[in-house]
Amino acid sequence: MSLDDELLASLSFDSLAVRAGQARTAEGEHSEAMFLTSSFVFDSAAHAAARFGSSEPGNIYSRFTNPTVRTFEQRLAALEGGERAVATSSGMAAILATCLALLKSGDHVVCSRSVFGTTNVLFEKYMKKFGIETTFVALTEFSAWEAALTPQTRLFFLETPSNPLCEVADIPALAALAHAHDVLLVVDNCFCTPALQKPLALGADVVIHSATKYIDGQGRCLGGAVVGRQKEMDEVFGVVRTCGPTMSAFNAWVFLKGLETLRLRMHAHSDSALALAEWLNTRPEVARVHYAGLSSHPQHTLAAQQQSKFGGVLSFELNGGREEAWRFIDATKLMSITANLGDAKTTITHPATTTHGRLSPEAKVAAGITESLIRIAVGLEDIADLRADCERGFAALG
Ligand SMILES: *Cc1c(COP(=O)(O)O)cnc(C)c1O
Repeated sequence: MSLDDELLASLSFDSLAVRAGQARTAEGEHSEAMFLTSSFVFDSAAHAAARFGSSEPGNIYSRFTNPTVRTFEQRLAALEGGERAVATSSGMAAILATCLALLKSGDHVVCSRSVFGTTNVLFEKYMKKFGIETTFVALTEFSAWEAALTPQTRLFFLETPSNPLCEVADIPALAALAHAHDVLLVVDNCFCTPALQKPLALGADVVIHSATKYIDGQGRCLGGAVVGRQKEMDEVFGVVRTCGPTMSAFNAWVFLKGLETLRLRMHAHSDSALALAEWLNTRPEVARVHYAGLSSHPQHTLAAQQQSKFGGVLSFELNGGREEAWRFIDATKLMSITANLGDAKTTITHPATTTHGRLSPEAKVAAGITESLIRIAVGLEDIADLRADCERGFAALG
């Protein structure tokens, strides 16, 4: 039994997060069942033929049809406001599947310079190998996106807010530019999730997720998803079915449970990040705080228009350089020194020597990744304990 379409259409975000996509089996389970099976059986040879021939919908093989994965896809699609979601084995698999589905040799991509480092490599090294050229531009410079357009441009790709400097792209403006040139706008919504920002409603054509981050929310599983219109998602589904970057049923079950608490967690992450950013901003040891929730942030107004809150990731620059940043990080005792984010546990990172370490010194300067920059992905611990941990960092600066 599943909820009827009319009821589903009437539900708000929190209700969809808990209920969308669930189809109960004859066992009457309350929590979603986890279907750990690679294949499915048929009643007869004719039944098998009908399923394989697509004249009857239904499960065949878990590379492309699994009820738990399907439930996750339907729930995420409902939350993003997309016609269809396709789950993948990781966030990178979601981006790769999107590229394989929507691009061909000779096409051109315009990509934000401030994207996840591995996304950069995917375009620069692997897509290039198959004849797809990419131009990288500054996320917030509208004229640079316009100038980069060629007759071959098929895709705009961006993340907003960006990592680690929290720059914000104007999604409606870039969508209008893209559509005027028959280009699709793809937005990686990993940092906000649909709980804080809905790129499709703002004009984007495709949304990418690394479910590994906030959708899981507790740092356990790798996964990803692509969300959008039926037409493009059917192509993405074809890639996943054929090439095999499939989400496992176990991970889909973990992500389903993550979606149920997504808005509550995103609000808690955001509220603590704002409180921490405001407090860091008062510290004499801090040269600059990067967080779109601060009224001093250059795109604060834009962020407030297209996001309901400002997210859990902030960064700040200390007075000094690498030595000060490393001393601060090493003096903390509660926060985890790791590059991951979107976890209940707060993480602290030195971008210049980790996530952005392969950039040349000039590229780091251009991207604003200074040696004294520290990123904190604020978790769900008590804010007073996080401030106390930062006090340990400040005390170590002497
Ligand atoms: C982590 C991340 C990815 C890649 O996701 P994986 O699940 O690690 O493959 C893509 N985009 C953003 C913004 C990320 O933070």
